[in-house]
Amino acid sequence: MLKDCRTVWANCLRVIKANIGEQSYRTWFEPIIPVQLHNNVLIIQVPSQFFYEWLEEHYVDVLKKSIYQELGHEGRLEYSIVVDQGNGASKPRTVNIPTARKAAYPTPLQQDNAMAASAMTASARNVAAAAAAPVSPDKAATLRNPFEASKAIDRNYLKSQLNHTYSFENYIEGDCNRLARSAGMAVANKPGTTSFNPLMIYGGVGLGKTHLVQAIGNHIKATTPDKFVLYVSAEKFTNQFIESLRSNAVQDFANFYLLVDILILDDVQFLSGKDKTQEMFFHIFNHLHQAGRQIVMTSDRPPRDLNGLEDRLLSRFKWGLTADLQSPDFETRMAIIQNKMQQDGIDIPPQVVEYLAHSVNTNVRELEGVLISLVAQSSLNRREIDLEMAKQALRHIIEEVEAEVNLDFIQKTVAEYFSIPVDLMKAKTRKKEVVTARQVAMYFAKEHTSHSLKSIGHNFGGRDHSTVIHSVQTVSDLIDSDKVFKGTIQELRKKFAGK
Ligand code: ADP
Ligand code: MG
Repeated sequence: MLKDCRTVWANCLRVIKANIGEQSYRTWFEPIIPVQLHNNVLIIQVPSQFFYEWLEEHYVDVLKKSIYQELGHEGRLEYSIVVDQGNGASKPRTVNIPTARKAAYPTPLQQDNAMAASAMTASARNVAAAAAAPVSPDKAATLRNPFEASKAIDRNYLKSQLNHTYSFENYIEGDCNRLARSAGMAVANKPGTTSFNPLMIYGGVGLGKTHLVQAIGNHIKATTPDKFVLYVSAEKFTNQFIESLRSNAVQDFANFYLLVDILILDDVQFLSGKDKTQEMFFHIFNHLHQAGRQIVMTSDRPPRDLNGLEDRLLSRFKWGLTADLQSPDFETRMAIIQNKMQQDGIDIPPQVVEYLAHSVNTNVRELEGVLISLVAQSSLNRREIDLEMAKQALRHIIEEVEAEVNLDFIQKTVAEYFSIPVDLMKAKTRKKEVVTARQVAMYFAKEHTSHSLKSIGHNFGGRDHSTVIHSVQTVSDLIDSDKVFKGTIQELRKKFAGK
């Protein structure tokens, strides 16, 4: 009876899967393609020489076992090695195994580089496959030394793209960032060896994500200069990747990233909906993580809200630690302003500092923006910074802040959105659309004002605090379960963000 190579390999995989870890399985076995079965010789295609050597070195026993179970004593395995150069030329080389190639096994340094090379080949091929038709073995490129590409790169000369002004010393600690900051420091002191791998920092705009992850990078660079730290925004990563696709250099792209010891990817939400870039990042992530390299990421929202990111990528983020950044409280804002003044040699009277810290409670970037504009004005007008000037500079921001925290404004905006009169929201009616509008308005009142539950209830036609709790809960549940509703909330939230 003729067996088909795919069935045989699928059965082998079942044996292999049961015998090795999931991550190893994914990394080393999922990219393999069964090519042919002839006279009890199964030919499988692997993405590179290194890949083949790695399999031989680490998985030869389980491979033998699986082949034996499927094909008996006569069974043999052969590898077809592909180094896809993206130009689809020439044939893969086939080698016979089992062959103990221990002597030829790379030294640790080579291994490091080769790991990079091989992994890239694998991902490159997957990306190419996703982009066009699957790579057929006949079209695969000639075998070339997989160490070649990466050997040429000396990691010490690679630029980290770090901004030296961001450090832990000038990253003010507060309740808003305590966990994220201390996890960041732990990672900075022991990259790749804590359980915070990956470390994912999330938080709204201007709350200090970039500063914190850059501080991690700078600290590592300062203490262990030989480590290759790379800071890159997800946007730049995406653009580089697209460019590499365009110029047939996907392999070089991946090669480069697999050399990184500490990869800092800023604003991962940018990868949403970019499937091929995600695929590439997924492979890089897996290889770096498996090799014990540190990965640090930031996002402007919690991972669960990263719509458009593949589940398998999201599930990776959960392997490590996710920590959030909140808006700084008054005391932290004071400390941030004082620190900034000291750093830039600015002198501002204490009551002005207090006024600023009190008024600008949106985010740190805005706070810094106001400081800068005050300094500019003061030098332009040759006038000392005083309270009057600060009030003048803050006029438009304060208005927004007030609109934000104002209960009337929330009721009016929500009522308008649902096209109902404001008074109806406070009335006794239980009509569905009115109830929904009321609940949504209560939800935002809780989120954006400092009113107590009791006071919110009071302002919605004298309802009690348990009604408010129920409304907030209902809205939260709906956000999780109903996409359309979630969209509504997001749209309304923009109106309250005051930007
Ligand atoms: P994000 O990346 O979250 O949008 P950034 O890291 O760019 O925010 O921070 C915005 C500005 O605020 C930066 O200039 C940063 O130095 C400053 N900043 C944020 N948080 C802090 C903090 N805790 N201490 C000092 N400066 C901070
Ligand atoms: Mg940022």
